Parts: sequence; structure tokens; C-alpha cells
Amino acid sequence: MPVKLTEKERKELLAQQSRARELSDTYLDCRSLGHAWSQCAPDRKPQFGELQVFQCTRCLSIRDDLVSSKYGELLSRGYRMAPGYLIPKPEDGTRTFSAAALRAERRRRMSERVFAPVIDWPAPLGEEPETIPARHRNRPPVTRHAKNGANK
Ligand SMILES: [Zn+2]
Repeated sequence: MPVKLTEKERKELLAQQSRARELSDTYLDCRSLGHAWSQCAPDRKPQFGELQVFQCTRCLSIRDDLVSSKYGELLSRGYRMAPGYLIPKPEDGTRTFSAAALRAERRRRMSERVFAPVIDWPAPLGEEPETIPARHRNRPPVTRHAKNGANK
């Protein structure tokens, strides 16, 4: 995105930002990160092919993939979106959201949300967690507290 916006682009971005502000944390996550699909037992029988059903673990929207029983090609994909997920498109033809507007809204909420810490990867098979060299761990090295004014 260009740093210098035209008046029209600025208005569009502001409209997208105000729409993003209305989203729940869950819907903001799904719209900015994509859905977190998890495979489910199919809840209906297709007329042909094989139905693979996925549900988003966050917003509970559902994705139906109809897959060829023979070679596994995707025959069709459909979505059953969670209530309130879909919102009407702007009448002026602009996009409802932009990645930048969603990112800006994530940044705005950072201070009021509590995030889970990064989870350590499991130790390689047969190794104790303590023996994993630091470079193989996904946690940054512990930083020591600087003494008062010593390391300004
Ligand atoms: Zn979702």
C-alpha cells in the first residue's frame, strides 16, 4: 500500500477501519488470519463423490469440499458461514475490508487482549526437554534484567 493515499483511498480505508472496529475478536481473527479449519464427520450425504466437511475452530463456519471418490479432485467447495459473519458489500463497489484495515484494528486491540504464550515445540523423540540446545527451541533466550542505569 502506498504511504501517500489519495482522498478517495483515505476515505475507503477509514470506512474499512470502522467496519473492522465492529467485528468481534473471533471474526477479526478469521478475517485477518483465515479460518482455522478442522475436519469433522460429514453431517449429510452427497449425491455423488465424497463429502469432506471442515469447521472453523474459532468462528464455527463450515466448509464443504466435494471430492471425487476416484482421484480426489475437488469437484466443488461450498461454505456455510456462521451467523453474522457475512456483511453486505459497500454499495460504492469498494472492498468491505482490506488487509491493512484489519491489521490496524488488530494493532488497536493489542493492548486490551490477553494472548496465550508461544507453546514450546515438543522435544525430539528420546530427548529430555532440558537437553534441547537453545537454537532448537522456539523460545527466545532469557534476557537478564539490566542493573539500574548500567545498560541504558
Ligand atoms: Zn473462522
